[in-house]
Amino acid sequence: MTNKVKNRIIQLRKDLSEYNYQYYVQNQSLISDYDFDVLLKELEDLENSYPEFSDENSPTKRVGGDITKNFPSIKHQYPMLSLSNSYSKDEIIDFEKRVIKLIDQDVAFTCELKYDGVAISLTYLDGKLLRAVTRGDGERGEDVTANARTINSIPLQLRGNYPKRFEIRGEVVFPHKAFNLLNEKRKQNNEQLFSNPRNTASGTMKMHDSSVVAKRNLDCYLYGLYSDKLLFDSSFEVFDELAKWGFKSPSSNNRYVEKVNSIDGVMDFINYWDKERSNLPFDIDGVVIKVDRLDFQNELGSTAKSPRWAIAYKFKAERVSTTLEKISYQVGRTGAITPVAFLKPIQLGGTIVKRASIHNADQMSKLNLHLGDTVFVEKGGEIIPKIIEVDFSKRSEESKPAKFISKCPECNSDLVRNEGEAQHYCKNEINCPPQIKGAIEHFVGRKRMDIDGFGSETVDLLYENNLINNFSDIYDLSYNDLIPLERIAEKSASNLIKSIEASKAVPFERVLFSLGIRHVGETVAKKLAKYFKTIYRLMLATLEELVEVDEIGDKIAVSLIEYFNNDKQKLVINNLINHGLNFTIVEEDQNSDVFKGMNIVVSGKFNSLSRDEIKKLIQENGGKVVSSVSSKTDLLVAGENMGAK
Ligand SMILES: [Zn+2]
Repeated sequence: MTNKVKNRIIQLRKDLSEYNYQYYVQNQSLISDYDFDVLLKELEDLENSYPEFSDENSPTKRVGGDITKNFPSIKHQYPMLSLSNSYSKDEIIDFEKRVIKLIDQDVAFTCELKYDGVAISLTYLDGKLLRAVTRGDGERGEDVTANARTINSIPLQLRGNYPKRFEIRGEVVFPHKAFNLLNEKRKQNNEQLFSNPRNTASGTMKMHDSSVVAKRNLDCYLYGLYSDKLLFDSSFEVFDELAKWGFKSPSSNNRYVEKVNSIDGVMDFINYWDKERSNLPFDIDGVVIKVDRLDFQNELGSTAKSPRWAIAYKFKAERVSTTLEKISYQVGRTGAITPVAFLKPIQLGGTIVKRASIHNADQMSKLNLHLGDTVFVEKGGEIIPKIIEVDFSKRSEESKPAKFISKCPECNSDLVRNEGEAQHYCKNEINCPPQIKGAIEHFVGRKRMDIDGFGSETVDLLYENNLINNFSDIYDLSYNDLIPLERIAEKSASNLIKSIEASKAVPFERVLFSLGIRHVGETVAKKLAKYFKTIYRLMLATLEELVEVDEIGDKIAVSLIEYFNNDKQKLVINNLINHGLNFTIVEEDQNSDVFKGMNIVVSGKFNSLSRDEIKKLIQENGGKVVSSVSSKTDLLVAGENMGAK
């Protein structure tokens, strides 16, 4: 029976690996998604019922689920050096001259793409993935094997005629398609968007939950083989072998890699990809040029920092020219004004660009923008590209300089620019719509009133329907107010009312933080609450009294006084007090000091109270909880199953 099971498991793993390889490496679909999932489920069930046959490189491990608490530091067997970078073709010519001088004969070069991702080193033993390690500082990296297993183009089991043990290096990239999908989802969930694929790939590889990594659909290209003995003659030849072992390695079919016999060939490759890179499904930031013969590479060796047999050529950031159609001004949550350029749509770095940021008034005058100008736009690491300069040769004589606005586009109040600040602000916090909504979003946020189900879309919806105009209005909301709104279902309406009610229990220090007083963050709010104990004393405090408080300076004190002098803010606070929010510190119960000065260990399982509750009781009564029994222990609180201590 178990033999039959074992054979079936082996067969399923083999088939699933093959389908996976064909799909993610060869771009061929041999089976429908549905059929694949059915087989995967069968394998998963068998592995669950027969854990004795489990294997960490089984295709079921691709979906992740391992939680990594920390990533152990691993010493690289071969240091992971970084390449020296060059930004001009002259430097490439110098590189060739240096190489020829040292080798004393003509050499061929391998040209490759320089992937803009996260460097990774994979070790295989007997055809199985043993370990995946990040570059780290080049000497030591972090073990991210659980996360690497979820990347479908990294083979868990090799095919063909592979060496017994070797290391292979490459780059984990975030393909544009997967990256854009991820951001679309985040947008729908009101989460902050990721700004660029490389940083996101890097952050993803360090995530602690590998099942989240699995859902991100990262990709991996491999290019560097390391082992104890020289396995091949040429670095170009290695690519073909890697493909035979099941790796997604760059191939000459799509010109991702090329062997050239002269520096002219190198230049051709650079020029080709400088133009074509925007059509790639992932980001590259240059090309890599290597001496092709591996014996020459050994002869050339390395400096302390980088190999002498390779160099990277970095592309200049891609720039295009287009027309500046208009400039509009956005008002942020804090009242900050940002000019945004609207451009005639144009293709740049794989996406259509319609807008560019200008940052502030100084930047605008520095660029000397006229409406209708032809401008050069460049994409750095960010989603929104920048205007670099104006093409003055194309400026029409009738065009007029763009002038920074003097009034808020949302509420028409005069803009203010404080000395030493680059940004203009609308100071009309109380009546300027984006600022009103911003204050409400701040109020309901997680570390503040923590009202569940109150995202920015809900704030917009309620504000636009005149149901809330400041955050004290939240506590006047009723189920019947919410139900007529199209986008709120019955269940979410009653949940929302429940969480609003629950928020009344939030302690004073967090209520104070929620008010959004400028310069009063989490820590300052805590200090103020502890010192004044109640809002009534805080509201009456003078500047002198305020700066008495530890770490409260003039800036915070002035901001507090301004805030509490504002009649509209006072009214809002009054309403909140009437709704029963905590504006006074709830004094802890009068506790005894029966445990004063005692070191107490809590161990084992308890029925009536949780261990944390017991620890809290000890602390409230003057005792100190320590983690293990020692000669200094005064008391041991023992529950069941506390072990042989
Ligand atoms: Zn305004």
